[in-house]
Amino acid sequence: MKKAIHPNYLPAKVTCACGNTFVTRATTPEIRVETCSACHPFYTGRQRIMDTEGRVERYRQRYESFEKHKADKEKRAVKG
Ligand SMILES: [Zn+2]
Repeated sequence: MKKAIHPNYLPAKVTCACGNTFVTRATTPEIRVETCSACHPFYTGRQRIMDTEGRVERYRQRYESFEKHKADKEKRAVKG
């Protein structure tokens, strides 16, 4: 290895938002992550929507009003 160009490669503690922690090696001593192998759906095999900004809820509300609008339109079409 060439001298003085490589950063320190230290043991790093990784902390996940789910509470899980594990140690790996990196150039920073502490890493915070939002998902890890203990809580990611790919590893758990369980479907879990990671909805951190309420996007799913907003989509549902929008879709709900769209369905209602469609039903109203159909009713009117039958009448007229
Ligand atoms: Zn996790």
